[in-house]
Amino acid sequence: MSSIRYIISAPSGSGKTTLVNELRQYVPNLEFSISYTTRPPRGSEQDGREYHFISREEFEAMIARDAFLEYAQVFGKYYGTARSVLQHAEEVGHDLLLDIDVQGERQVKQKMPDAVSIFVLPPSRAELESRLRKRSQSENVLAEDVIRRRLDEARREIENYPNYDYILINDRLEQSVDQLQAIVLGERIRRSGKTPTAAEKQYLATAEKCLKTNMEDKIKDILATF
Ligand code: ADP
Ligand code: 5GP
Repeated sequence: MSSIRYIISAPSGSGKTTLVNELRQYVPNLEFSISYTTRPPRGSEQDGREYHFISREEFEAMIARDAFLEYAQVFGKYYGTARSVLQHAEEVGHDLLLDIDVQGERQVKQKMPDAVSIFVLPPSRAELESRLRKRSQSENVLAEDVIRRRLDEARREIENYPNYDYILINDRLEQSVDQLQAIVLGERIRRSGKTPTAAEKQYLATAEKCLKTNMEDKIKDILATF
């Protein structure tokens, strides 16, 4: 069976990195795509671990030789997913998680309509602001203009939620991790075509609640705060 591609996107500060790091501990046989970017490393980031950090010239050379499945500019820097990442996951028989922005999601869904896309939302604008502030304090950079820009950007990004299959409202972290795990495992169970066990039915039920079509009322409440 070919590997499943999961796409996860979120406005900056929603908690996507936290959720993905938790997911790594619970789901086996899932590769995390390492993107290429022209932005410089932040904090403790290492080349080849969080990203492949390359120059603009190198990135444009990769575009020219069609090395990317998708790429986009985010906050003025290039970010892209190399085709080789997909080949590798396929070869080792693992599923693949792409942490990419809304522009990337659109490109991947166009090429691979069976990819599973998940949009992470904060519970409200006020909570997003508080998380952005908390994170920048812990990194010792409290730049008000950066926080303001990210909040404006969040409003624009959230408008893309209709393009996604699942919506995950990251309110209580523990519950959100359970939901993300259920979405990932639920898709595996569904696509295997096997009769689900009792435990598997539980995952399927949790995942179903996160389908965008079952989340419209909650999404409207959150959108109203932006
Ligand atoms: P992103 O990757 O979406 O930009 P992060 O994972 O860096 O976001 O999270 C932003 C901040 O919010 C961090 O300080 C993180 O600890 C905190 N955070 C993440 N999830 C939750 C949650 N469910 N409740 C409260 N704080 C959270
Ligand atoms: P950051 O610089 O904070 O790590 O990421 C900024 C944004 O770029 C995030 O929304 C992240 O999901 C997105 N991003 C990271 N890698 C890629 C990629 O390969 N392609 C696209 N389209 N977006 C990416």
